Amino acid sequence: MRYISTRGDAPSRDFEGVLLAGLAEDGGLFVPESWPVLTSAEWRALRGLPYPDLAARILSLFTGGQPDEAVLRPMLRQAYASFGHPAIAPLVQLDTRVHALELFHGPTLAFKDMAMQALGPLFDHVLTRRGERVTVVGATSGDTGSAAIEALRDRAAVDVVILHPEGRTSVVQRRQMTTVLSPNIANLAIQGSFDDCQDLVKEMFSDAPFRAEMHLSAVNSINWARIALQIPYYVASALALGAPDREVAFAVPTGNFGNVLAAWAARRMGLPIAQLLIASNRNDILTRFLSSNDMTMRSVEPSFSPSMDIQVSSNFERLLFELLGRDPAATADTMRRFRAEGRMPVPDAAWRSATQVFRGFALDDAGTLAEIRRLHGQGYLADPHTAIGTAAAMASPPSDPAIPIVVAATAHPAKFPDAVRQATGIEAPLPSRLADLYDRPERFTRLPADLGQIEAFVRRHTLRNVA
Ligand SMILES: *Cc1c(COP(=O)(O)O)cnc(C)c1O
Repeated sequence: MRYISTRGDAPSRDFEGVLLAGLAEDGGLFVPESWPVLTSAEWRALRGLPYPDLAARILSLFTGGQPDEAVLRPMLRQAYASFGHPAIAPLVQLDTRVHALELFHGPTLAFKDMAMQALGPLFDHVLTRRGERVTVVGATSGDTGSAAIEALRDRAAVDVVILHPEGRTSVVQRRQMTTVLSPNIANLAIQGSFDDCQDLVKEMFSDAPFRAEMHLSAVNSINWARIALQIPYYVASALALGAPDREVAFAVPTGNFGNVLAAWAARRMGLPIAQLLIASNRNDILTRFLSSNDMTMRSVEPSFSPSMDIQVSSNFERLLFELLGRDPAATADTMRRFRAEGRMPVPDAAWRSATQVFRGFALDDAGTLAEIRRLHGQGYLADPHTAIGTAAAMASPPSDPAIPIVVAATAHPAKFPDAVRQATGIEAPLPSRLADLYDRPERFTRLPADLGQIEAFVRRHTLRNVA
């Protein structure tokens, strides 16, 4: 299995190559050269597998034998052993039609752990085999950073620098990052927005000499391995609800478009997914795109669902590439104009084909609190991101009532206690393994959104740990 860049101007790589590289050298994102497609019989044969084994099977379709399924299976069994639920990603029925797929039972209580916990051992395996080390640099709106830090702490061949927008993450999110005092981990609080942090990371990767010197690597959702590791839970939940002999729909709280892209990939692989609902807060660029082909950047507004406070959804480029008939020159040109003009010119035919699969839904903070309250009245405590997903499922279900809707429950309610308290008056307790989070000492460095200063910091952090 080879991977090509969406912008067509970088050498193709194998799975290990894209795992370590993250972003392609031409600024594009890696995508599989061709999609594996499973027959109905092949989907049926996956029913009933324990989650880690199902994940190993799906991931092996994307690794081209390196590592192969026999290596991946024990790796993933161990990766998911730290989860707080024996099913790993349990499906909870909320009403006749709507189900919550709980993806938050990992160590940092958000769905990012589903992929990231597996990325740690994958990095170890590949770097050890090659005798290499890397510096992972990432931007986070809160949950990616903590998941990456938790997955990569104390790993011998990996240094980690995570940028977060100062004051824009929840306290739980920040503390999950800054209280990890392992010497290979560093946190930067950047004076700017999440998009600023993300741009700075992209600029570091575009700085070719710096990138080579530091052996930069990314575990943001632009890393293909993360997308691949998010496909299995869509498969598992669809199979549990009757696929491939019954269609399903998914509602996915969306920020960087990584999670919903994995659902789209499952559909591309032949899983019968009737519809994908993109749920967002008032940062609604994707909803505007789907309703009127208007992908215009606006400024980022803070909300109760900070992991979705994003205007530029990096992973959208992978979908764009597909919508444009896998034309890398057209993709590169469209992305360049989006950057330059603040508006993405998507041809009408491509937009129409997107609207056949995707539907957008946006909800403001007041609506989010009302939905948390409604769910609580039914006996389910949801975090603000998940609540926007369930609201999307209620507002725009597929017209065929026989199609169940699975909402990706992306965070544990205790991760966003303020919103949950405002909506319900309830204190969502942290699971016992995190109970002392507020008492642990923190370590982080404040920096302005300045590339030079940040690169200097990354260099110091990396060299200190090599020495
Ligand atoms: C990251 C995150 C999202 C958004 O996921 P994307 O893959 O960036 O679209 C939604 N909810 C929570 C809780 C998250 O941590």
